[in-house]
Amino acid sequence: MTISEFTNFSLTLGSNELLGLLTIGVAVFGYCKIKLLRCLKQKQHVSEELQSSLEKLRYLTATSPSVLFSMRVTSQAIVTHWISDNISRVIGYTLDEASQPGWWQANLYAEDRERVLHESQALFVGKHQIYEYRFKHGNGSVIWVRDEQQLVADEFGQPKEILGSWTDITELKLKEINLRIAATAFETKDGIMITDHATRIIRVNRAFSQLTGYSAEEVLGKTPAILNSGRQDEEFYKKMWHDLLHSQHWEGEIWNKRKDGNIYPEWLAISAVQDRLGNTSHYVATFFDMSERKAAEEYIRNLAYYDPLTGLPNRRLIIDRLGIALSNSYRSAYYGAIMFLDLDRFKILNDTQGHDKGDQLLTHVARRLQACVREGDTVARLGGDEFVVMLENLAKHQTEAAVKAQFVAEKIRDSLSAPYLLELNSNESEKSILEHHSSASIGLVLFQGHSVASDDLLKRADLAMYQAKHAGRDAIRVFDPAMQLALNERTALETDLRQAVLKQQFMLYYQSQVDSAGKIIGAEALIRWQHPQRGLIPPDSFIPLAEETGLIIPIGLWVLQQGCLVLAEWQKNPQTQHLKLAINVSPRQFHQADFVQQVEKVLIDTAVNPEYLKLEITENLIMDNLDEAINKMYAIKKFGVGFSMDDFGTGYSSLASLQKLPLDQLKVDRGFIRDWVEAGNDAAIIRTILNLGRTLGLTVIAEGVETSIQLDYLAQYGCPIFQGYYFSEPLPLAQFQDLL
Ligand code: C2E
Ligand code: MG
Ligand code: MG
Repeated sequence: MTISEFTNFSLTLGSNELLGLLTIGVAVFGYCKIKLLRCLKQKQHVSEELQSSLEKLRYLTATSPSVLFSMRVTSQAIVTHWISDNISRVIGYTLDEASQPGWWQANLYAEDRERVLHESQALFVGKHQIYEYRFKHGNGSVIWVRDEQQLVADEFGQPKEILGSWTDITELKLKEINLRIAATAFETKDGIMITDHATRIIRVNRAFSQLTGYSAEEVLGKTPAILNSGRQDEEFYKKMWHDLLHSQHWEGEIWNKRKDGNIYPEWLAISAVQDRLGNTSHYVATFFDMSERKAAEEYIRNLAYYDPLTGLPNRRLIIDRLGIALSNSYRSAYYGAIMFLDLDRFKILNDTQGHDKGDQLLTHVARRLQACVREGDTVARLGGDEFVVMLENLAKHQTEAAVKAQFVAEKIRDSLSAPYLLELNSNESEKSILEHHSSASIGLVLFQGHSVASDDLLKRADLAMYQAKHAGRDAIRVFDPAMQLALNERTALETDLRQAVLKQQFMLYYQSQVDSAGKIIGAEALIRWQHPQRGLIPPDSFIPLAEETGLIIPIGLWVLQQGCLVLAEWQKNPQTQHLKLAINVSPRQFHQADFVQQVEKVLIDTAVNPEYLKLEITENLIMDNLDEAINKMYAIKKFGVGFSMDDFGTGYSSLASLQKLPLDQLKVDRGFIRDWVEAGNDAAIIRTILNLGRTLGLTVIAEGVETSIQLDYLAQYGCPIFQGYYFSEPLPLAQFQDLL
């Protein structure tokens, strides 16, 4: 009741009542006053308390990451009522700014806005709500905010006020993101193992389990020693710990053992994690399996150093190893040996049965060679049918070493001459086996220390191998200094021969061919080398070298041109026009792709009548490649040129192959005539050749006839033509013509 209300009310009453009332009023007033005073006192106390609470609140919020706020909820809007003044520190806005309507919504991070506004509605249902979102900080950066709100209702249950807090959780969020990244990174395909400072495993990832075969449960609490393969020695681990202690890191290749016992190479990197005081608290080890990479590396290495067919070291590797062997031998003073092997007549197998049979044989040979040597010795394939065997640590004494090496060489020779079973048909159903016989020519050289370079050693062994070949194959020859002399000689001869080709130091001699009536019916052109210092060199001393070096090609062409020029001259003269000329053709010359064209061109250039020209070829030439020989011979035959089979009886041609060739003549090798003894083996051979000639419709000529006895014998068995010293030696053109 206000004073004026009280006055109005009193005016309506009587005086007694008024007095009574006044008395009551005074009493009430007194009471009220007391009450009021008490109230005021109380209020003052509350206000002081409030003040102190606010102080405390301000003090607390000053350091807190949480901004407190309250909002009034009316039916029209939600209005900011109060915000703790740490907002400027935490979110970067002044109280004024933050109190502006729409401030909160405007500064929500665009990508989160829709979600947040949607989630905020849930408060009015559940009364309590927590959500997180990104918010634009007053300084322009974006922070993460954790927003917690409590809805307060009035006595009617209507929403009245929202009390809440905004907490900057940016740091927490970043940590969480980092943790998530770390967790993802932890589950890579590399194995990861984390141990405590005492190397007890505390965590491993899935890849660890996949790579090692151990589940996490099986290894937790254990030490990495369970993976130890035993392949690394103590030194290795010492070095590892040294690095870890000094640089907190170690990495390298290591062999570990899987749960199933399988040992595998891995690349391991270990880092020591230090605490703030610099003490190692953990070790983090990451590793990956190198088996595949190793296999790939191995494969590449193999390509460069190994022969793909036999899997044996190739030339490059054997030269490397020989270098090492020489150094070892230098240190140990032990002799070693190099063997150079060449399969005899390998080419024939290759050409007649096909390359896959050749490959099969080479593979068998490789295996047999390996079986003949000790573990430390090396068997290599240089290419083709050439192999090298290197024996080490034979003995300190030369003789003893030589005996041992010779023993191994014999063993190899025996092993290689045993029959080979080659599969003829890869088609399973009709598989048939070819029993093949082969042999090898072996050259052997001893070495000790560095006295001879690796290259030269191989050359020496090669040279000895050639000697073995010349000795009739399936033989072993040991290199000796005389061979070296021959080698030097050969090198010098080769240089000279190149000069000879350039300077045209050759000349042709002519040896007459005579019929049974003693009449000269032709000649064989035989080359001589007019060496400026050494004088006249016979063909046997340089033709093989020319063959080997390819110099036979220009030389052979020169012979053909020169011979045809002479023949063309003879054809112009009635006295000589009946003469036939035989010209020798070497295998390499014949095998040139354009040999037929070369012959054709010479025929045209010299305008010779081809009917009087005869090419002498050998059985080896034909056997090198029978089909090629047949084709080329027929092509040349078409020009009118004839063919004679020189040195007949020394080669390996078969009757079947002879029949396929367009031959005109067989020339009995002079060896049979020389060694001829009446009724002996050779006499029988001569008779056979004569019969063969008759059967095949070929004329036969006997070369190397030196005596009248030989002549009579040959004539008696029907030999129609002869060549030999008995009639005439090979002569220079002028002298030969005098002879006529
Ligand atoms: P070849 O074709 O068998 O020639 C016959 C060889 O026997 C010639 O040796 C000849 O001098 C020799 N000779 C002839 N009659 C007798 C005799 O009564 N007794 C003895 N002991 N020997 C006799 P040459 O001229 O030394 O030729 C040797 C080989 O060199 C030839 O054997 C031939 O294979 C080759 N040759 C010669 N000239 C050429 C050529 O121009 N080109 C080619 N590719 N090879 C040639
Ligand atoms: Mg000849
Ligand atoms: Mg001959």
